This record gives sequence, C-alpha cells and structure tokens, in this order.
Amino acid sequence: MSDTATIEPRTKAPAFDVGAIRAEFPILATEMQGRPLVYLDSAASTQKPKAVIDALAHVYAADYANIHRGIYDLSQRASALHDEARHKVQRFIKAQDWREIVFTRNATEAINLVAQCFTAPDLRAGDEILVTEMEHHANIVPWQMIAEAKGAKVVPAPVTEVGELDLEAFERLIGPKTRMIAVVWVSNVLGTVNPVAEIVALAKARGVPVLIDAAQAVQHLPVDVQALDADFIVFSAHKLYGPSGVGVLWGKAAHLDAMPPYQGGGDMIERVSFSGTTWNEIPFKFEAGTPDIAGIIALGAAIDFVESIGIEAIARHEAELLAYGTRAIQQVPGLRLIGTAHEKASVLTFTLEGAHPQDIGMLLDLDGIAIRTGHHCAMPLHERFGLNASARASFGIYNTTDDIDALTRSLHRAAGMFQ
Ligand code: PMP
Repeated sequence: MSDTATIEPRTKAPAFDVGAIRAEFPILATEMQGRPLVYLDSAASTQKPKAVIDALAHVYAADYANIHRGIYDLSQRASALHDEARHKVQRFIKAQDWREIVFTRNATEAINLVAQCFTAPDLRAGDEILVTEMEHHANIVPWQMIAEAKGAKVVPAPVTEVGELDLEAFERLIGPKTRMIAVVWVSNVLGTVNPVAEIVALAKARGVPVLIDAAQAVQHLPVDVQALDADFIVFSAHKLYGPSGVGVLWGKAAHLDAMPPYQGGGDMIERVSFSGTTWNEIPFKFEAGTPDIAGIIALGAAIDFVESIGIEAIARHEAELLAYGTRAIQQVPGLRLIGTAHEKASVLTFTLEGAHPQDIGMLLDLDGIAIRTGHHCAMPLHERFGLNASARASFGIYNTTDDIDALTRSLHRAAGMFQ
C-alpha cells in the first residue's frame, strides 16, 4: 500500500467554513431512518445547494418558455438564460469557444455520442479502442457496441495492485491499430487521479484521439480543456451540485464540425425538405429536440456556486477529509481499503472481512449513513481485485470529520457483529 502521508493536505487551516456550506444544502438537515442524515455517496450524485434548487424553481416560476423558437419576450429570456449557462460551462472548463460545449442528458450520452459520431464511422475490423481496467461501464459499453458492429476490439490497460494505471503497459498498448483512447480522469471506485496530461501526450505522439471521462473530476479539480488538449471531455451536472438530466460534452470545434449528427429532430437542422435536409451549426447540430432548459440554467447556478467557493479550496477540504478518513477507517478490524493510489480524490472503497457489502450498507442505513454498495458500475475493475462487490464512502464539499467519525463508529460496530 502506498504511503497515506502523500494525501496529507498542504495546510491544517480549514479550507472554508463547512458549517456555512452545509446550511446551503437543505437535505443535510433532514433525517434518514430517524437519524440525522450522514450523506457519503456524493460520487453517485451530489446533493443540491439552495442556489440550484432556487434557480430551478425560479425558471419555472418566472422565466420559462421553450427556447430558440419564440419571438416573444419570455422565450427570448429563457433562451438568453440557457445561452448564458453554456458560457458559464465554457468559462468553468476554460474552453476557447462556446460552440465546443454540447449539452447532453449526462456523461453517458456524451460518450455514446462520441463513439457513434466520431469513432464509429472510420472504425474497421481489427481496429482497437484503448481504455483502462478502471473505467465506469459508461466508458466501456458504448465502445464495445461500436466495436462489435465493426469487428473491432476494446483493449483494457491494466491497473496495479494499489489501483494506479500501469502507464508503461498503457503506452505499450497504443499500437498502429489504436483508433481511439478513452480514459477516466478520476476513478469512481478507487479515487485514483490518472495522469491525464501524460496520457494525452502519449496519445498525441501517436496521432490517436483521446476522450477523457471527467464525471468524477470536475467537482474535485480545476479543469482547463485548452491546457489539457484532449479531443473530448465529458461530465454530468448531477455530480457537480447541479441537477440530474444534464450532461456536457466538450469537443474540439474542428472535430464537432466534421462529425455527423447524433439524433435527428427539431433545432439540429438548418433546413428540412423531403428532397434533403441540412444541419444546423455546432453545437446545435447535436442538440435535437427540446433540452432540459431549466436543468441547464440550474447547471449554470451550480457552477456559480462552486466558483464562489473555489475549486482549489474544495480540493483542499476534500484532501483533508480523505487523509482523516483513510487513517480512521483503517483502524477498523478486517477492513481492506481498495485503491491507495498516490494521487487520490474523495473516495474510500473497502471490504470488511466476514461481511457482504450489502449488509454493511444496510447496517449503516439504520444509523442514518448513506454509502454505496455493489459494483459501482465497474464490474471489470472489481474482477481485477477479485471482488464481486465493495462498499464505498465518498465525500463532497459539505462533508465533515464528524461524518467520517459516524462512519467509523458504525463500521467498528459492523466489524464486531460479523467477525
Ligand atoms: N464515468 C464515471 C467515472 C462515473 O462515475 C459516472 C457516474 N457514476 C459516469 C461516467 C456516468 O455518469 P452518468 O450516469 O451521469 O451518465
């Protein structure tokens, strides 16, 4: 196991006033099973601050109409707010051009879009798509689907015992048949922060395009898509304190311009006739039909909220919790921590000797503690570690050392019951 000292925060000073942050999240004042809620499942979905809830309510109460269609003031207002949200995403990930931001339903849909419209058209029998063993199913299955249709292959790069990507093996697997590389930035199971800058550099040196799955990254680390220089980046609003139902695909304008549309319908066309139809400009070419207008505007509010605290301050707070939590839960007898990478974000995945993860989850639920149990949509990774399932506690901006203490107390009790 790697040295946990490497995840010590740089400073002992509190990153921000967590109490004040918690007061912004109404759900944290509620109970679960008659106990105060201890929410430790932010990797699955984060809770929502008042600013996001209010933005949603306000759009529907005061600014709602369909967008890009109506000549009347209300529709124009809704359109302006929707457009503004796209500019907020552009600013947040430092994209050069707002046209590079495509709104989807979620990160999963964004990956499917790239697989089908960018990679599939040129994919040939024998070609390879390189991923890693630590991918979420969302970054495996869309590639398998296009690979199967074309007689191509999805190749997984190995993960080491501590849960890091074996970068040398990864590099060796980039060959003349590699058509696409798709890698997770932060693993939702291991918490591993992959060296995405090196991965992009390796891919570029061989002329292979790269997609980075940032579903677990944007809420924990600063993202600068221009500095990173990948070809595509995807994430979901609901893990960034925003609403569910909205995802983001960032892609280089030249790629998006050259790609065929994903779905046909309203808004994605320039002109429709029965003798032939032409496509709208990017990003609208990829946004068929009425989007989640209020959800997209509320994503803008989530970005404002995160930026008002500062992603660096968030990262510092979460690093403190991770260091504290890593030390604390390792004192629990029979607990095995899965994923002890040198660079790690807000996730503690574990097994407990003698206990099925499901049973741990049920016991913790009775204590008001929400954690995730199962395979976390990463079955190949569990197989790699010889597991069917695991338990995962994950943190966000609003978690405290009290939450970790509650988790540790319950785990000690569970260990006493099962061993
Ligand atoms: N990638 C990673 C690393 C994830 O953790 C998740 C969500 N658990 C996804 C992709 C898919 O996100 P969504 O379900 O919002 O499409």
